[in-house]
Amino acid sequence: MDNPPITSPEDIVEFLRPLLMGLEDENLNALAQAAVVRTFPPGAIICREGDVGNAVYAIVAGQVEILKQLDDRSERHLHYTGPNKFFGEMAIIQEGPRTATVRASQPTTVIEIGREPFLNVLGRSPVLGVRLLVDLTNRLRDSDQQAIAALRRANEELTRALKQLERLDRTKTDFIQVSAHELRTPVASLLGYAQMLENATTVKDDPQLEVLVEGIVTGTERLHRIFNSILDVSRVMTDGLEIRRSPVSIAVIFSGIATELRQPLEERDLSLEQKGLADLPVYAGDPDLLYKAFYQLVNNGIKYTPDGGRITVQGQVVDVPDLGQCIEIAVEDTGIGIAPEDIELIFQKFYRTGEVALHSSSTTKFKGGGPGLGLAIAQGVVLSHGGRIWAESPGYDEETCPGSRFVVQLPLDWTRANPTKPSPGDIQW
Ligand code: ADP
Repeated sequence: MDNPPITSPEDIVEFLRPLLMGLEDENLNALAQAAVVRTFPPGAIICREGDVGNAVYAIVAGQVEILKQLDDRSERHLHYTGPNKFFGEMAIIQEGPRTATVRASQPTTVIEIGREPFLNVLGRSPVLGVRLLVDLTNRLRDSDQQAIAALRRANEELTRALKQLERLDRTKTDFIQVSAHELRTPVASLLGYAQMLENATTVKDDPQLEVLVEGIVTGTERLHRIFNSILDVSRVMTDGLEIRRSPVSIAVIFSGIATELRQPLEERDLSLEQKGLADLPVYAGDPDLLYKAFYQLVNNGIKYTPDGGRITVQGQVVDVPDLGQCIEIAVEDTGIGIAPEDIELIFQKFYRTGEVALHSSSTTKFKGGGPGLGLAIAQGVVLSHGGRIWAESPGYDEETCPGSRFVVQLPLDWTRANPTKPSPGDIQW
């Protein structure tokens, strides 16, 4: 309801009396004598954040908006307030600058009381202090409720946005999966023909042709590998990764990997040592997926270790809080190491560090590089077995080669393990 117009000190006393209930007449009069009535058009700033607090205001009519200035110079609306409410007293009581800006949002009439007379009355009358306290408490409660409502709204918006992102992400992953699948089939037959061509006598007898066909075979093999990795990683990222558990010997997996990688190990004069693997208990896991995961780790050890280095695979059983008894496998190398800022990021898809030879056709050459999918696949496999994977390294240095260590923990009691997929936020094709 609108207040009657205020034209005299008596009007001010009558206006303030109910607001400052219990304040003695003498003090009400002192405030009224010091007060001036002011009217502001919409948009006018009544007091500004950061200014010295030299007056307190009571709103007679209209409405004001309380705002805060943000670091980027934009404004944040806090709330509106209207007739019979005070503002501006905090800066006076705290003897500090204004903490918010107050702007008229409608034609607004206020009673302005200067700092000195206000403080004089406050010093004389506890009633005014108590009224201010009550007012402040109400304001705090209101802003609490407003903050909770704003948080709830922000939360709802974020949830909606997340759902939409998940949907988009799923569409994108589906598209990539379908494309990789469609492209892999013709590439596979291309590879078959190219390999047949490589063995044809006409080609073998013509050194020039042989070099050309060799180039086609290597390029096609590389394409085939990339499509396979994309398919693997997209399966790992979506619900498509089915774990078929059966009894697995970790030692057998690593002996298969050692056989498959024997040639590059020999060519690069790298030793692959295996410790404690034969003593590990049989593990209930998916042998094909685990092979893929550990293959990536050993293959990376080869890629990122200079010729003549050492890769060590060590297995043991450990007790891990939250996971219980686990098989722990550490793949350690004497290679170039990993910088602290990259140590977590390398598990993201397509993440590569340093200046690796991105277009290298060999997956085992020193710093041979690749599409940056190996660790994402390894992580997906380990997470879907309910385990953990992380990297350790003193740092990156191609001169001193401090080495890297990749640790995998797989819970033995997989009925207790909680398989996880990389979160949708990780999916950034
Ligand atoms: P790719 O090897 O195809 O680039 P990965 O996902 O296997 O992709 O590895 C991601 C990045 O992590 C690599 O580019 C490399 O920078 C780093 N990395 C992985 N393994 C090692 C390792 N054993 N030593 C040093 N860096 C490594």
